Amino acid sequence: MLNNYQGSANALVELLKQQGVEDELVLKAIAGTPRHLFVDEVLKHKSYENTALPIGQGQTISQPFIVAKMTEVLLQVGVKGSVLEVGTGSGYQTAILAQVFEQVFSVERIKSLQWQARRRLHLLDLYNVTMKHGDGWKGWTSKAPFAGIIVTAAAQSVPDELLAQLQDGGAMVIPIGVEEQTLTLFVKQGDQYIRHALAPVRFVPLVAGEVG
Ligand code: SAM
Repeated sequence: MLNNYQGSANALVELLKQQGVEDELVLKAIAGTPRHLFVDEVLKHKSYENTALPIGQGQTISQPFIVAKMTEVLLQVGVKGSVLEVGTGSGYQTAILAQVFEQVFSVERIKSLQWQARRRLHLLDLYNVTMKHGDGWKGWTSKAPFAGIIVTAAAQSVPDELLAQLQDGGAMVIPIGVEEQTLTLFVKQGDQYIRHALAPVRFVPLVAGEVG
């Protein structure tokens, strides 16, 4: 299975390097993850392009550059151990996180997407991921605190419940905004959250509630 896609995945890695992704662990994970398994059959020919693609239910698989950068940002601020992902989507970002961090918890509000993602991760033998169907605005209190939190949909305002689930020294990367969105990093230091604006981005919205 791996041989067919490896050339395309390697080319994608070279492109990401040119765009400034440096972390070897992240690049290795991108090279080793068959992105074509995370999209519909009709879009497979586009699966190693550096673009977001539709995955149904009005949602998207994130652009590989964004997946890599958000993961790299957490590593750069020293996150290690367990991370929470809000917005499993196709499970592609989850698969990258699973190869970089010890333990991944991932929440998705749309049940059908969550089931598909779960099947894909099992197919790839990534067993350090625990998933649940639910509203990620609330995080996952019983598994908190987390060293890192990654939110893959844009929040209108800063989700305080998520910040509260960071361990001291932990960090959250999240797009904030509606029309204009900014990828934002929060680092928890004691009872303070240091905020850094990273880059303009475009994500689907983080929606409250869950869909059965
Ligand atoms: N990183 C994912 C990937 O590579 O496939 C892409 C995720 S997609 C851009 C955003 C996802 O967030 C969607 O699947 C959407 O259903 C989910 N989402 C939106 N609001 C949510 C919420 N409150 N809780 C959990 N998931 C949510």
